[in-house]
Amino acid sequence: MAQRRMFSPQIVSSEEFLTMPVSSRELYFQLGMNADDDGFIQPKLTMKLTGATDDDLKVLLVKRFLLSFDGGVVVIKHWLIHNLIQKDRYRETRFIEQKNMLLIKDNRSYTEKGTLELKSGVKKVPFWRENRKKIMGESSLPYSFSYKIRNAFWGKLCPLCNVEMRDQEMSKKCIATIQHIIPLTKGGKHELDNIAVICHNCNLSLRDKPTEKLNNADVVREWTTIVNEPLTEVRLGKDRLREDRIGKVRLDKENTSLNFLKEIPPNILEELHNRFDCDKKAITSKAESLYLYCQSKGRIYKNYHALLLNALKKDFPERKEPIKSKKVVMVDGKPTIYE
Ligand SMILES: [Zn+2]
Repeated sequence: MAQRRMFSPQIVSSEEFLTMPVSSRELYFQLGMNADDDGFIQPKLTMKLTGATDDDLKVLLVKRFLLSFDGGVVVIKHWLIHNLIQKDRYRETRFIEQKNMLLIKDNRSYTEKGTLELKSGVKKVPFWRENRKKIMGESSLPYSFSYKIRNAFWGKLCPLCNVEMRDQEMSKKCIATIQHIIPLTKGGKHELDNIAVICHNCNLSLRDKPTEKLNNADVVREWTTIVNEPLTEVRLGKDRLREDRIGKVRLDKENTSLNFLKEIPPNILEELHNRFDCDKKAITSKAESLYLYCQSKGRIYKNYHALLLNALKKDFPERKEPIKSKKVVMVDGKPTIYE
């Protein structure tokens, strides 16, 4: 084995490298010192000797400074950028099988064979995409689960890289995404106990590698809170629309504004009063409490009419026979009721 090891500043002075925790960076250097002449190493011993933790290793894997293989072998991805080992000193790795799974990219970094083939346009629909629909369909979780749970993690830290997770508009890299602890491709289910929420970047890096539970406990807790909330957010999923045909509510300018709840347009108030067995005051006070709820929690809904409708459904029975409706006439472009 060659006796010298080098580290290219192109890698170890990069922002991506420097923003990792010190302990992960230290582990990287230690592994670099102890790897064989092809950059392969079984990291456990080095970790034990240097006091590095599984988390330190995980960060390196997630950030793809290391690539992993079954059996706990890893390779330093940028090995060939760091080191140029003289031929007479070079001794090939004993992890030949793993080495054969790698390609050397133009920039001299290692990558897994499958990824380049996919990128080069060889058409191969991944298994997970074909089966995703089926697996989601069999899940006990509702259609709106993914959206709501990701939403609940905005502003929280990714359990792998500690970046603050955001929504789509903020930054693509740190969008909160669903991670299946046992991947769907490996028989994992789209069920609560198999789900963690991590950032987009980490999700991409993990591909379909199984992980530990990560923040699954938080996911369970958040979801329990969501389903126990007294209010149901409007579901625009297909299932909901089908159920709600009768009470289908159109999205228009009026009901997409929170003000809708403060001043329910008289024609809609009339309609609701007609449908639910309660007096108008009960409807306006329900709307008022929803208004206060949305304001205090900073909640934004797509359709406040539907929000109110769903809340009323929970609180009041529907009338068996509609009351005699009063006439609503447009006066100066405003709906007005004639008693
Ligand atoms: Zn992350």
